[in-house]
Amino acid sequence: MNSTWLDMDVVVCGGGPAGINAALAAGRSGAKTLLIERYGFLGGMSTIALVYPWMTFHTVEGKQVIAGIAQEIVDRLQAEGASPGHVRDTVGFVNRITPYDPEIYKIMIFDMLREAGVTVLLHSFMDEVHTVDHRISAIEITTKSGRFKITGKQFIDTTGDADLAHLSGAPCLQGRDGDKLTQPMTMKFRMRGVNLEKVKQYMLDHPDEFYKKTPFAELKDLPLSGVLGYYKHWQAADLPINRDQVLFFTGPGADEVLVNTTRVQGLDATNVNDLTEAEILGRKQVRMVADFMKTLPGFEQASLSSVGAQIGVRESRRIDGLYTLQLDDVIQGKVFHDCIARSGYPIDIHDPSGKGVTAAWVKGDGAYDIPYRSLIPKRIENLLVAGRCISTSHEALATTRLTPSCMATGQAAGTAAGIAVKHGIAPSEVRYEELQVELRKAGALLHNEDKR
Ligand SMILES: Cc1cc2nc3c(=O)[nH]c(=O)nc-3n(C[C@H](O)[C@H](O)[C@H](O)COP(=O)(O)OP(=O)(O)OC[C@H]3O[C@@H](n4cnc5c(N)ncnc54)[C@H](O)[C@@H]3O)c2cc1C
Repeated sequence: MNSTWLDMDVVVCGGGPAGINAALAAGRSGAKTLLIERYGFLGGMSTIALVYPWMTFHTVEGKQVIAGIAQEIVDRLQAEGASPGHVRDTVGFVNRITPYDPEIYKIMIFDMLREAGVTVLLHSFMDEVHTVDHRISAIEITTKSGRFKITGKQFIDTTGDADLAHLSGAPCLQGRDGDKLTQPMTMKFRMRGVNLEKVKQYMLDHPDEFYKKTPFAELKDLPLSGVLGYYKHWQAADLPINRDQVLFFTGPGADEVLVNTTRVQGLDATNVNDLTEAEILGRKQVRMVADFMKTLPGFEQASLSSVGAQIGVRESRRIDGLYTLQLDDVIQGKVFHDCIARSGYPIDIHDPSGKGVTAAWVKGDGAYDIPYRSLIPKRIENLLVAGRCISTSHEALATTRLTPSCMATGQAAGTAAGIAVKHGIAPSEVRYEELQVELRKAGALLHNEDKR
């Protein structure tokens, strides 16, 4: 029985970085907008799974290529003392990373959504979709107060797992070609009581034990923001974790680090049995890795301070959209006429079955375009998709999945939905030129010449 009905212009499913920015953009366009989230707070992987820091708004040369609402969020966090802004990446994988306080992000985002006139429903799991003639007529959510049926003119899928697209019958894909395996899941955790000066000194004294791109020449004068390596220690520990190195980032506390080193492979994040197993394995690995970390120089007094509320999912379902972004589009920095966002983050594939990470950097000016068509699924007319589950190959997903890019595609989807509502048209009929004008007005960077 449906106990309650809601009728909206734009319905955004999934309150992660993509969904938040989509809802902000749609709400600001004047559309009556609803944001639905299954947990009791917003932020997606950033807050649920402790993903940190955001990377990256910049190219490898340090040029900013993502701004708009994503930058506004950073500015507001910075104004509240909850982010240092974009800082040098001392891992050396990218140029700039963006640490932030997830607890302040969780709070601040409600203010921004309220200012944009967005209605938020928490503790609401979207599990049913009704379609008529290739259009979504309604979705249903399960809540403590019964089931809600929600009608809308336009829908945006920002569930990360393409739940809405999948349930509506839009074609979806999963994993790499052939065996369909996805990137591994990782249970992240924080430790406090870390002596970061000692860690830095150890790195300066033992450069061979760390990632070859670590900016050692600058390290002495830089605050440590991240560390990759400890090859010798990790190998000697011989833990039953299929990974070849230790990765952690510093902050947000002065003596705190976020460890990204556990690895659960071969399980499907859209299968409840697999996901359950992944949670159990992930937490067991956290204990092992935290004990191992205490043996590293600088970690003698450290202790486990928090663990993700759920395991981090790098990759699951994605849509098969009007254009599928390819590895080569990314590497060659391909320019698309209907570009709605850019990114300078490299291809970063945590091996679905092996120990390592495969990386490849963007050529040309260091950034690639994400076309509007990659946000539009096949078959369903009033649906847009943003964030991790847009239309890409398995390889291209390995860069578009990063938080700043998800925020940027979220803003694009929300803006496009607002235009579609205003003109009474389908997302596929939205003129990309009009969308680009609106995105640029809102601070988005869509071309090499665009500046903040
Ligand atoms: C281990 C790991 C490490 C990472 N490292 C980094 C990093 O260092 N820097 C970086 O920038 N990015 C990193 N990422 C990538 C980034 O965190 C995610 O890809 C990004 O958060 C995706 O954003 P999204 O909004 O598309 O999806 P998500 O963040 O997954 O958000 C989806 C939201 O939808 C909700 N939802 C899902 N299904 C439903 C439903 N049916 N009904 C209602 N709500 C639903 C979820 O609860 C969630 O809030 C990492 C990811 C992982 C997993």
